[in-house]
Amino acid sequence: MATRIDPDVKFIREMQAAGGESLKKCYQCATCSVICPLSPEESPFPRKEMVWAQWGMKDKLVNDIDIWLCHNCGECSDYCPRGAKPADLLAALRNTAYTSLARPAVLGKWMSSARYLPILFIIPAILFLIVWAATTGLTIPEGEIIFAKVFPTLAAIDPIFILVTIFVIFTFIYSVGRMLSSFREAGFVPGENSPSLLSSLGGVIKDQVLTHVKFKDCETNQDRYPGHLFVFYGFIALAVVTGIIAAAYWGDKLFDVGFTTPLALWNPVKILANLGGIALIVGLVYMTRSRLNQDPKMTVNSYFDWYLLGVIWVVVVTGFLAQIFRLADAASLAYTIYYLHLVTVFMLFAYLPWSKLAHLVYRTVALAYARQIGRAGFRE
Ligand code: SF4
Ligand code: SF4
Repeated sequence: MATRIDPDVKFIREMQAAGGESLKKCYQCATCSVICPLSPEESPFPRKEMVWAQWGMKDKLVNDIDIWLCHNCGECSDYCPRGAKPADLLAALRNTAYTSLARPAVLGKWMSSARYLPILFIIPAILFLIVWAATTGLTIPEGEIIFAKVFPTLAAIDPIFILVTIFVIFTFIYSVGRMLSSFREAGFVPGENSPSLLSSLGGVIKDQVLTHVKFKDCETNQDRYPGHLFVFYGFIALAVVTGIIAAAYWGDKLFDVGFTTPLALWNPVKILANLGGIALIVGLVYMTRSRLNQDPKMTVNSYFDWYLLGVIWVVVVTGFLAQIFRLADAASLAYTIYYLHLVTVFMLFAYLPWSKLAHLVYRTVALAYARQIGRAGFRE
C-alpha cells in the first residue's frame, strides 16, 4: 500500500539550521544505529530519525521518545561513513523540545539565540538592583560584610527564589505533561501489566541517574562521564546546603535556635558547600574541554551548550570570589560580586525549563516512560 508523505520543508531547513546540517549526506546505511551503544534492537535510533528528518516528517520527530534515550556521546557521528552527524540532529531535536515544550513560548525564543541574552540578563539585574536600592540606596554598607544587609533573606531573597521555584515546578508539570501526551500520540502506550510511571522513575533514578552508567557505555568523548558526574553531585551538595541553611534560618526565626550567617569556614555545612563548588569546577573543566573538541560549525547547538556552561561558570566563580572578598574585607568587590552571583543564579534556575539543563527532568521522565512501556533495551 502506498504511503503519501508531505515533507515539511520549513522544518527540514530549521533542523539544518539547528545543527542537523549534515542531513543531505545520509544514505541510510544504518551504521549509526548499529554502532550506538544505547540503541535498542527493536526500532533502533538514530538512522530512522535521519530518514524522518530528510523527509521532513516533523510529527514523527517531535513525538519521538528516542531523542531522550540518546546521551549525545557522538559515537554514531564518528563512525558515519558519509560524514553525516546524526548525534547533532538528535541534539538539535532536543533543543527544539526545550524551547517549545514549556510556556510562555517567548522564553523559549529568548533562550534560543545569543541575540536575546541581554534581555535574560537585564530582568534579574534590574530586580536585584531594586532590592539593593531599597535596602542601602545602592551604597556599600559600613562594618562587617554581611550580604543580608544589602540582600535581606526574609524580605527579598527568599520570596524571590520561592516564587522562582514555584514557577519552575509548575512549568515542568505542564511541559512534562505535554511531552508524555506526545509519546502517547506517537503510539508509545503502557500495557495493562506495565509498572507504574512512579516505580519506573524510581528505578531509573537508582540505576541510571545516580550512577550516570549510560555515559560509560560510550567509548567516544569519555570526558562527558566524569564531567556530568562531578557537575551532578556538585549541584546535589549545593542543594543540600541550601536546604540545611533554609531550615536553620527558619528554625531560628520560629524557635530562636541561635543560627547566624555567615558560617565559619570550618563549619561542616560550609565545608560541604565548598566541596560542592569544587566538584562543579572540576566537572565544568571536563565539560568545557569536551565542548571545545566538538565541531565548531554547529551554531544553534553551540549556543545552547555555551549558554549553560557560561552561566554555571559565572555562578561558581562569583560564589567563590564573593566569599574570598568577604574574608579579605574588600566590601565593594564582595557586595558587587555577590550581586552578580544572585543575577546568574536567577538566570540558571528561573530559565531552567527552556535551557539544556532541562534534560535532567525531560530525559529522566522519558527514560522512566521507556522503562514503563518496555521499550526494548530499557525494560526493568
Ligand atoms: S547517518 Fe551515516 S551511518 Fe547513519 S544511516 Fe546515515 S549515512 Fe549511515
Ligand atoms: S550520540 Fe551516542 S547515544 Fe546518541 S545516537 Fe549517537 S551513538 Fe547513540
